[in-house]
Amino acid sequence: MERTALVHYHEIGLKGRNRGDFERRLEGNLRRASAGLTDGRTRRIASRVLVPVTDPARAEELLAAVARIPGVSYLGYAIECDRTPEAIEAAALAVVAEEVTRRTEAGEPPPATFAVEARRSATDYAESSLEINRRVGAAIERETGLGVDLSAPGLVCRIEVVQARAYVYARRVEGPGGLPVGASGTVVALMSAGIDSPVAAWRVMKRGAVVVAVHFSGRPQTPAHSEHYALELARVLDRSGGMARLYTVPFGDVQRQIALDAPEDLRVLLYRRFMVRVAEAIAHRERARALVTGESLGQVASQTLDNIAVVDAVATMPVLRPLIGSDKQEITDEARAIGTFELSTTADDDCCTLFMPRRPATHATLAEAVDAEAGLDVDALVEQALAGVTHVDLSRAPKRRRAL
Ligand code: ATP
Ligand code: MG
Repeated sequence: MERTALVHYHEIGLKGRNRGDFERRLEGNLRRASAGLTDGRTRRIASRVLVPVTDPARAEELLAAVARIPGVSYLGYAIECDRTPEAIEAAALAVVAEEVTRRTEAGEPPPATFAVEARRSATDYAESSLEINRRVGAAIERETGLGVDLSAPGLVCRIEVVQARAYVYARRVEGPGGLPVGASGTVVALMSAGIDSPVAAWRVMKRGAVVVAVHFSGRPQTPAHSEHYALELARVLDRSGGMARLYTVPFGDVQRQIALDAPEDLRVLLYRRFMVRVAEAIAHRERARALVTGESLGQVASQTLDNIAVVDAVATMPVLRPLIGSDKQEITDEARAIGTFELSTTADDDCCTLFMPRRPATHATLAEAVDAEAGLDVDALVEQALAGVTHVDLSRAPKRRRAL
C-alpha cells in the first residue's frame, strides 16, 4: 500500500496571488526537508501537499522532518488508495490497527473508542461524507471491537477523497503553523547561546523569515566555547529549513576597550549598542530588513524600557523582539519544544559575563550613553569587530552572495 504524509496548511488569509506563492514555497521547503528520506516526489493537490513515504524504515524521521517545517499546520500519515469503498475500508482498518499498535508500543493507553471523519474534495464521488462515515465506522466497529464515540473519540480515522484518490489516516502529527520560510524576507538575529534568543529566532522563522544569526563571543579575552554552542543551536533551528548563515564575532577586545574607557554601570548597554551596530553592518551585506533579539520586558536589568530605548537609538532598521511579552516559563517551554533548551542550558558563558559591572544601570538615558561613547572611537571599534568575523553557511545560504 502506498504511504504518504498528507500535509495540511492554514488557508486563512491566503487569497489571490499570495496563495500560489505560499503553496509553491511550502512545497519547495518540504521537498528540501524530505530530500534523502524519500525517493518520491512531493506534489500539490487541492490545498494539500503530499510527501510520499517510500522507505518505511525512515518513516518516523520523515514525519518528524516534515512536522518541523513552518507553514505546516498538521500532517496525516496516510495510506493512499483507490477511491473504491473496498479500498477505503481496507485502508481504514489497516491504519486503525497500526495506530493502536503504535500507541501501545509507545506506552500510551490504547484507545477504547473511535470516530470516522470523511471529507470529499471530489464532487463527483457518489457517497456523501456521512455515508462514508457510517459504512467505514461499521466496519471498524465490527473488526476491532472499538466503540463509536463522536464527541470525544479516543482515535479518529480520517478519510479524504481528493480528485481521483483517497487518503486514509489515523495518525495526525501537529506542525508549527506559520508561513513558509522565504515568504517574509531575511532578518539578522542576535543569537547568544542562552535560552531566549534561539526561541526569538525561531519565532520569526516560523513567520516566514530566513534567519542570518550573529553570535558575539568573548574571544580573545575568553575561550571560544560559546561559539560551538551557537553553531549547534543554529543547526537545530536549521532543521526547520530557515537558517542561512551563522556569523561569529570575536567581541572580547571591544568589550575590554569599553570596560577601560566607559563608566562601569553603562558597560552592558554599550556592549549592546555595539552589537547592534555590528549586526546592522552584517544585515546590510545580507540584505536583511530587520534585527531580532530575545529580550523580554523587565526580565533582567538590561531589558527595562529605558534601556531598550537607549539600545534602539543606534539602530536604523527595525529591531524585532518577538519575546517581549513572554514569561520565562513560556520561553523555556518553547525552547524545549523546538529542541534548543538542552544546548542553551549546557552552553558556557558567552561574552556577556565578561567585564560585567557589579551594578548595571537599569534606567540609563540616551545622553549618558552618548556621553560615555564620546571617549571611544566607535567606528574603529565596529571595524575592528567586523575584521574578525567568520561565518558558517547553513541550508538557506544564498548561492551567490558573498559573506562579509
Ligand atoms: P538570551 O537568553 O538570548 O541570552 P538574555 O536573557 O541573556 O537573552 P541579555 O543578555 O539581556 O538577555 O541579551 C539580550 C539580547 O541581546 C539577547 O536575547 C540576544 O538577542 C542579544 N545578545 C546578548 N548576548 C549576545 C551574544 N553573545 N551574541 C549575540 N546576541 C546576544
Ligand atoms: Mg544571555
